[in-house]
Amino acid sequence: MIVDSTVYSGKCVCGREHQMSTRAAVIEAGCLGRLDEILREYGIGGKRCALYGENGWAAAAGLHPRAEQEIVLDPKGLHADEKSTALVLEKLEPDVELILAVGSGTIHDIARFCAHERGIRFVSVPTAASVDGFCSTVAAMTWYGYKKTLPAVAPELVVADTDIIKKAPVELVRSGVGDIMAKYIALAEWKIAHLTTGEYLCPRILDIMRQAADTVTESVPGLLEGRDEAFESVTYALVMSGIAMQMMGNSRPASGAEHHISHMIEMGPEALEVRFPAMHGEKTGVGSVLAAREYERLAAVEDIRPAIRDYAPLDEERCRAFFGERLMEGVLAENEKDCLAAVTPERLAEAWPEIRQILSEIPSSEKLYALLERLGAKRTLEDIGVSSGELDRVLEFSPLVRNRLTLMRMRRMIRT
Ligand SMILES: [Zn+2]
Ligand SMILES: [Zn+2]
Repeated sequence: MIVDSTVYSGKCVCGREHQMSTRAAVIEAGCLGRLDEILREYGIGGKRCALYGENGWAAAAGLHPRAEQEIVLDPKGLHADEKSTALVLEKLEPDVELILAVGSGTIHDIARFCAHERGIRFVSVPTAASVDGFCSTVAAMTWYGYKKTLPAVAPELVVADTDIIKKAPVELVRSGVGDIMAKYIALAEWKIAHLTTGEYLCPRILDIMRQAADTVTESVPGLLEGRDEAFESVTYALVMSGIAMQMMGNSRPASGAEHHISHMIEMGPEALEVRFPAMHGEKTGVGSVLAAREYERLAAVEDIRPAIRDYAPLDEERCRAFFGERLMEGVLAENEKDCLAAVTPERLAEAWPEIRQILSEIPSSEKLYALLERLGAKRTLEDIGVSSGELDRVLEFSPLVRNRLTLMRMRRMIRT
């Protein structure tokens, strides 16, 4: 299948003019073998550098695209951070005009950041359906320990060979499902922010995201049976999620409280013991279950008025004790213009019935949990290396890693 993303460009019902940088996504069995032809068709030429992780290198064995330069990164301890990007920028020959990212999420983030730095073209060749960020315009980076999104370029083209994607280790597609599951929470957060503060919202982006999430959850049985169409559907949904982010210009429709849980665990606060690392989508999958469960608890409260308190800035002492000195500077900078300050107790109380309605549209935490269980994916804090006794602190501090209005952040104004 070919997704022509130019149809998402232009004037929209939301009043904005959406701008797409990705022109198309080719999602087909065997399409990597036709890469030269596809690039020619879209007029993408010039000297190429193919960037791989060792896993992507192995996954695409026998189908390595023709490229004047090849860089293969050691996957051990590989992160999209200041070190890996500096290494690639140093190796990248000065006259390279196009980066081909062949691999999963991390390779893509490194590639899109470096292409942006160099001002060159970028084409995505995902080798696993592991994350939704393939055609995102921003790169999810860990910058000197702090998790942030940095400006980058979206791929001009995505060439997703489902023959390769299907053969990727099963935990990668489990992770992709966990990353898409997050959209149910993220979309609810966005609607609630729109309702309480008038934050911009686009109904078209909302629909695309919701459909992507539904497509993935419906594909789970097919994934388990190893059916080609299921892998194609999931890849399609991950691409569409990236397209929705591109229409938005940031990750608002894709990332809410569940992503903040994932990011915080990844940053490694001083007082939080993280026994082993987990993949991005594994953490957002668990984060989605935790957020859904907490929101069910909140939604059960019919009259919120007695529990509402005035806005107060964050408690620096408590934050410092949890995050530690290394992360505290970043946390303070992120929260300097606290988006929660825009929410008044009156507005929160008034909007509560509608907030409860929005929350009821999130699939139940049991349903999300059961879906992950069916896939054999990680589904509890313990599964991702964090003690279950840390739940309260995870819910309290995770919203602070990103200054984005979520219901989890609003809990500061609700006695829970
Ligand atoms: Zn719109
Ligand atoms: Zn994600």
